Amino acid sequence: MAQDASFKSGSIVNDSRCLAALMISAVDSIIIIDSCGIIQGMNPAAEKLFGYSMEEIIGQNISKLMPSPHRENHDGYLARYLQGGDTQIVGVIREIEGLKKDGSPVPLELSVSEFKIDDTIYFAGILHDITNRKKTELELLHAHEGLEKRVQERTQALQQTTIQLQKEIQERTEAVNELKLAAKVFENASEAILITDANTTIIEVNNAYLQITGYEREEIIGANPRILKSGQHEKAFYQKLWSHVEKFDEWTGEIWDRRKNGQAFPSRLTINAVRDNDDNLTNYVGIFSDISEIKAGEQRLEKLAYYDPLTHLPNRLLFKERLVHEINKADRSKIRLAVMFIDLDRFKNVNDTLGHAAGDKLLIIVGKRILSCLRRSDTVARLGGDEFTVILNGIDREEDIAHIAESIINALQRPAILSGQEVFIGASIGIGLFPTDGEDFDTLTKNADIAMYQSKKAGRGVFRFFKEEMNAWTTHQLQLESNLQRALERDEFRVVYQPKICIVSHQVVGMEALIRWQHPEHGLVSPGEFIPLAEETGLIGPMSDWVMKTAFAQTHKWNQTLETPLSVAVNLSARQFQSANLIETIQDHLNTSGLLPHLAEIELTESMMIADLDAAIETLTNIRKMGVKLAMDDFGTGYSSLNFLKKLPITTLKIDQSFIRDLKFNSPDETIVAAIIAMATSLKLDVVAEGVEKLEQLNFLSQHGCPTIQGYYFSPPLGPDKFIEEVQRRLER
Ligand code: C2E
Ligand code: MG
Ligand code: MG
Repeated sequence: MAQDASFKSGSIVNDSRCLAALMISAVDSIIIIDSCGIIQGMNPAAEKLFGYSMEEIIGQNISKLMPSPHRENHDGYLARYLQGGDTQIVGVIREIEGLKKDGSPVPLELSVSEFKIDDTIYFAGILHDITNRKKTELELLHAHEGLEKRVQERTQALQQTTIQLQKEIQERTEAVNELKLAAKVFENASEAILITDANTTIIEVNNAYLQITGYEREEIIGANPRILKSGQHEKAFYQKLWSHVEKFDEWTGEIWDRRKNGQAFPSRLTINAVRDNDDNLTNYVGIFSDISEIKAGEQRLEKLAYYDPLTHLPNRLLFKERLVHEINKADRSKIRLAVMFIDLDRFKNVNDTLGHAAGDKLLIIVGKRILSCLRRSDTVARLGGDEFTVILNGIDREEDIAHIAESIINALQRPAILSGQEVFIGASIGIGLFPTDGEDFDTLTKNADIAMYQSKKAGRGVFRFFKEEMNAWTTHQLQLESNLQRALERDEFRVVYQPKICIVSHQVVGMEALIRWQHPEHGLVSPGEFIPLAEETGLIGPMSDWVMKTAFAQTHKWNQTLETPLSVAVNLSARQFQSANLIETIQDHLNTSGLLPHLAEIELTESMMIADLDAAIETLTNIRKMGVKLAMDDFGTGYSSLNFLKKLPITTLKIDQSFIRDLKFNSPDETIVAAIIAMATSLKLDVVAEGVEKLEQLNFLSQHGCPTIQGYYFSPPLGPDKFIEEVQRRLER
């Protein structure tokens, strides 16, 4: 409530001048308002503070200088105070914001006192400009805030450092683990690892290193890696290696090293240079593995892929690679090059008669003999079977090539000893020259092959250079081969019969069935031409089978009209003789034809028996058991001995026509033929002389007691109609 302002009497303050002086001189601003908030007075300090003159401000509401921060204005505020509300105005010091005339705010400390003059209530406000204090406070606050910020920053920095440290700890732990792992790897690696210092002195090696090299640790530490030097590389190799390391800080490659025991071994080596943070070289680390096994495997694979496992000569693939390479070389240097195709004569005989093991042995001998005729730079390859090829480079003169071909032929003509027997083979050689006979692999080899066929045709044991006209002959041969495949289906084969005549009665006692090929274009093709072809292509089986069937059926048919039955002989090829179902085939043909077994005869050659004599005897015995007769064809040309002949259950000997051809009195052939007849008679064998063309031959044979004759003297092989006519004609005589 408003209190009366009273001063002690007698005091200077009761003097109104004193009051006025106070007002005027007061540093703080003093403003007096009435109970409605209307400014009634102010002192000069207030004028100065707010920028208003006394005249401007007296009568204005106090809100002008002190805009109420509250919603209600000063009037309402004062009213509530006067009504005794809870609003406290007097006796408190408050901070408020004043508003200067220029519109700028000013922080003030306000204390209000209340006084009454003549029952009118006034309020005096003393305002103290606290701009400086506020500023200081603000500065303090800012200073405080700065401090806080710095603290915060320091805290953050500390946190960062902690995180960094934790990270570092983790990294170091990992590094330690890595090191532990590396140590483990180092110790247990299967690769040899060595570490040297910058001067290449070995400072550490692992177990694998010791195992592979065979050295003890003590021997190695302090040594130079050179300790493993194998001596298999030139100085330049190591120089190149180290200059690579110097340049690129690493080298990888294959190198031959030597174990302590002196054994050299191939290894795959990696060398790495190790540098510190300043890029100074500190160490070298070498890692290598023993690749002997891999190398050996690679070599085995290469051998398999490129070499013939039997003769160890290059195979077809390597031959091709080398020839293509030589052709390119010769082409660049504009020089000639020779390719030889070598085919063995009579090799098939050896294989068929002495067996594959003997054949294999012979091929090895042949390979070595060809090699012995050549220079180291020439290539001999085996293309397969009995086909060999030779590449001669750097030889220009045909005479020199011919000389080499001759020496190969001579070398191969020397007998070879197989299974204790002397075996005679020979070779036919065809030669193709680069670039005249072919500028590429295919043409050159094809033409050398053609020349080889030509030399075979020319009588074997010779060589031929390729000539353009040879092409035509080969085309004919190829045509024949493809035609032969279809001859059986097209019914182009015929059987002809050559009579066997009794030397006493001149009657036909039997005949040999011989095959003929009636070619639609080439006419009659002789067996000498197509039987080797049929053997090669495997067609010989079905072909001979067809002959047997036809001949048996034909003979049986004739025999039904004849008083004295005829016996028929059919030839067997080596392949057919070895076939597993030979006995059944013969039996089948006998059954279907109705021919009596003792009227059937099988002709074989000696060479067919030699491969496996026991098996041959078994087959022959089984044939004999059926009642079928067995003839030894072309007798005298093979390997037979008397002993051999005695073991075989044969019934007939056919003396080969080569002995008959040159029969003259007192010739060696005369002695042989006489001996064969005598021997056959003593063994109770039938004897047939083949190829009898002349009377004197007949007379000779007759004189020596040969009972049966086959030859042009009496009759050539005849077609079925002519043959039976011939039989009848003789019967009627
Ligand atoms: P080979 O079994 O020794 O047959 C006898 C060959 O001598 C026949 O030749 C025949 O025509 C011929 N010849 C007969 N008399 C004379 C003569 O007085 N002078 C001359 N220079 N030759 C005469 P061909 O028919 O050319 O048969 C040749 C070979 O072909 C036969 O010799 C035989 O080994 C084989 N051959 C023939 N037909 C067949 C067959 O059906 N199967 C089998 N596997 N081989 C057969
Ligand atoms: Mg015959
Ligand atoms: Mg014969």
